[in-house]
Amino acid sequence: MPVIKNGLMHIPDIETKPLEEIKKYQEKKLAELLTYLQEHSKFYKELFAQHKIDIRQIKTLEDLTQIPVTTKDDLQKRTEDFLCVPKNKIVDFITTSGTMGEPVTFAMTDSDLDRLAYNEYISFSCADTTPDDIFQLMVTLDKRFMAGMAYFLGLRKLGAGIIRIGPGLQELQFESIQRFSPTGLVTVPSFIPKLIDYAEKNGVDYKNSSVKKAVCIGEAIRNPDFTLNTLGKRIADKWDIKLYSTYASTEMGTAFTECEAGRGGHHHPEMIIVEFLDENDQPVKDDEPGEVTVTTLGVEGMPLLRFKTGDICYHHTEACSCGRTTMRLGPVIGRKQQMIKFKGTTLYPPAIYDVLNEIEWIENYIVEVSTNQLGTDEILVKIGCDERYFNSEKTIKDHFRAKLRVAPEITFYSPAEIYQIQMPAKNRKPVIFVDNRNH
Ligand SMILES: [Zn+2]
Repeated sequence: MPVIKNGLMHIPDIETKPLEEIKKYQEKKLAELLTYLQEHSKFYKELFAQHKIDIRQIKTLEDLTQIPVTTKDDLQKRTEDFLCVPKNKIVDFITTSGTMGEPVTFAMTDSDLDRLAYNEYISFSCADTTPDDIFQLMVTLDKRFMAGMAYFLGLRKLGAGIIRIGPGLQELQFESIQRFSPTGLVTVPSFIPKLIDYAEKNGVDYKNSSVKKAVCIGEAIRNPDFTLNTLGKRIADKWDIKLYSTYASTEMGTAFTECEAGRGGHHHPEMIIVEFLDENDQPVKDDEPGEVTVTTLGVEGMPLLRFKTGDICYHHTEACSCGRTTMRLGPVIGRKQQMIKFKGTTLYPPAIYDVLNEIEWIENYIVEVSTNQLGTDEILVKIGCDERYFNSEKTIKDHFRAKLRVAPEITFYSPAEIYQIQMPAKNRKPVIFVDNRNH
């Protein structure tokens, strides 16, 4: 695919075409994929046979609904059957978290690594990256993760500089910023307030550093209307750097990265077909949130057809001010399994966290969901704070009603008590969402 050099920016030709042309392009790619799966994928060959699917009859993107979706459970139970190449063609062995706690293997060939590099090359280009940039990678590059390696490969292809630090290590991050003068960071956004804290405590002049932007992975920094959420605001209030959100997963091997407009991650039509599905695996309307369901294009090792990611997003199809016409993906509003139906409203835990994060005296919290006697969802928020706030139930409920139109039950504890419940022996990450519903 030819790439237009717009100044120093690289925009693939297809990304500025009319939507109808992009659709046609994807349908051609889809036909190639179906042929490939029929020949090389044990899982999909069986699926087509079992459901009497003649792949020659799947011609348009709309026809995809005739094929059953692929779930994380399928991937966990039949990993080997998804592999389309002999084992000696695998270069990189990756794992991703499965549905039953056990990691699921994901394998990439040499050509898949090239594809991944291209994907991050066009994604970083989308985030205004040029060969003059130097990015400090504050993410894991090993431990069988895909993401850190993907950023490295993409930035290398783009011709930018790279500093591989890894996560955490505030002191080393600033030492490295002073030594190499990076222009950008790649990090989980919740690490940035920690960096700022460190800088403020240790007299580091971070505001006048070389850093001008951050590509934010893994967590949302925006509300569905693209205004900054509490985390995004917390960063922006302290540090005047440009924030770009990016969304990706191992299974899709494709990133949706924001451009300068900051209005959702751009779809790269060469890499992936995206559908947004409702609870019955039917396409949602354009203005409704749906489960991101992906079909990977150009993948050799473990291509996926209609894979349900579990992530719920809005999507936007109006052309963007950056010149791209491709669909944009809004922030992840929640995980499908965590959807809460509460007093007639559909909610996801991140919206609840966002309200709680806004109240400064709340130190920590746990959100518990259960099924009440009527069989509907109940929400109890356990709040850890100083004792003098123990009678502030009404203040919190008012916040909830203002933002979400409904208010959960509230109880108060000391921050130490909450911390204890959050950290059961074996967990490395604090548990802040507890689901006690009878599913
Ligand atoms: Zn754009």
